[in-house]
Amino acid sequence: MVTVKNKTITVQNYIGGNWVPSSKNQTYNRENPANIEETVSICPSSTTDDANHAIEAAHEAFKTWSQVPAISRAKYLYKFADLLESHKDEVAELLTREQGKPLSESLGEVNKTIGEVRYTAGEASRLSGETLPSERENVQIRTVRVPKGVIAAISPWNFPLVTPLRKIAPALSAGNTVVFKPASITGAMGAKITELFEKTGLPPGVLNLIIGSGRSVGNQIVNHPKVRGITFTGSTEVGSSIYQLASKRLVEVQLEMGGKNAAIIYDYPDVEGAVTQIVGAAFAAAGQRCTSISRIIINERDADRVYAALKEKAEEYVIGDGLESNTTMGPLVSKDQLITTQKYVEIGHEEGATLLTGGEIKIQEKDGYYFRPTIFTNVKSNSRLAKEEIFGPVLSIMTADSFTEAIEIMNDSEYGLAASCFTKNKDYADQFVAQAEAGMIHINNGTISESHVPFGGMKASAVGPYSIGSTAKDFFTDLKVIYNAN
Ligand code: NAD
Repeated sequence: MVTVKNKTITVQNYIGGNWVPSSKNQTYNRENPANIEETVSICPSSTTDDANHAIEAAHEAFKTWSQVPAISRAKYLYKFADLLESHKDEVAELLTREQGKPLSESLGEVNKTIGEVRYTAGEASRLSGETLPSERENVQIRTVRVPKGVIAAISPWNFPLVTPLRKIAPALSAGNTVVFKPASITGAMGAKITELFEKTGLPPGVLNLIIGSGRSVGNQIVNHPKVRGITFTGSTEVGSSIYQLASKRLVEVQLEMGGKNAAIIYDYPDVEGAVTQIVGAAFAAAGQRCTSISRIIINERDADRVYAALKEKAEEYVIGDGLESNTTMGPLVSKDQLITTQKYVEIGHEEGATLLTGGEIKIQEKDGYYFRPTIFTNVKSNSRLAKEEIFGPVLSIMTADSFTEAIEIMNDSEYGLAASCFTKNKDYADQFVAQAEAGMIHINNGTISESHVPFGGMKASAVGPYSIGSTAKDFFTDLKVIYNAN
């Protein structure tokens, strides 16, 4: 249930088709990161018992939902997309108030979600198998895709709408049932998603919402024997612990985790054009995107032009409440993120990097978690600033003596999510495609992904089939091979 009083939204869990409070009746408040005196939502602090009830409800519903024809399942998803479209402004406003990003970015997220859900609804009718020849006479062989069962969908706070839908939509489309645990600081968006699904008439138990801390509720979901697949997006640290627990139970995972994405500028005459794209990819969502560019590697020769363009673009940002129409960068999502970002600025100074711009908190009349876009030059490639995911608006610039060295610096990272190269040299572009250790490669382009295209990474950024696009069904279904003798 979602109730609104003085703009504060009170939400509950959704289990077996009923809105219910936490079994201990405990709640927590979520503040508006742009104005911390304002409470955006009051959410249930769920218990492990609540998680068990949600899993049991999903397990029970699977018996009938898995038998619903795929084309009928898709209809619920199309209806969800239509409802989201008709509630677009309300959902975008909630997204900004709870998460902090500017309203234009929230509307962009809503539109992307609508597109992805419609694509994924269509995937229900493309769950095809194969027919294969047999070594024997009178034997036919074919494969069919079948749903796994109960899927745990555990999502982060940075894209609180599109990321859950990248999990829920393909899970339902393939005939699974879902236990959805949003990040606790974006619990209200989790409830809004669930409320819209309820309005589609989705049968009870097919989608269940459980709001609470990752350590207790999340952990319980990961360990529960009736959960047959875990799709997780979040930090590499938590993803790694989930992977270890799931492997003990031999349960499949789809893990989308951290990144330290680099852009190389080399032999690219329009340096200022490249910088414009890179700055957009670095500071959208205040740098809190897994695909944010957080490192730039350049030819020393271009340094003065790159630094001047970066400084100018970074200082153009209007920082403030995302609901204000002139705001181009909202606050960070939480006090923790603010402290982490500040800490890395101190680390940058200690490591001898040069601060080009930013590096400070922007205090406003009404306090929020504001931080200026921050750029360090002269960053050493083996420093913490260059290596660790900050997840804030901090960009590190390094120089390389050759294009090959630039690629080596880029690849010297535990992560491998997205990589970008600005060059007019075709040989460099080919070398980049061949050697970049990243799941998503962009040539003369920021790190913008598209809704019908597989999304994922390598190394410590991802485990399991890529989400969205044609690859999602590889995680959300199992394969049955059928030998049929006459
Ligand atoms: P997080 O890992 O702290 O939390 C993610 C989710 O996991 C939350 O719902 C949290 O409650 C839950 N969780 C925490 N501990 C758990 C546990 N022990 N067991 C089960 N669940 C648990 O991440 P965050 O701070 O919400 O998000 C930021 C991180 O997400 C960044 O590292 C970012 O790179 C990553 N991210 C990756 C992608 C991608 O597609 N690769 C996309 C968005 C964000």
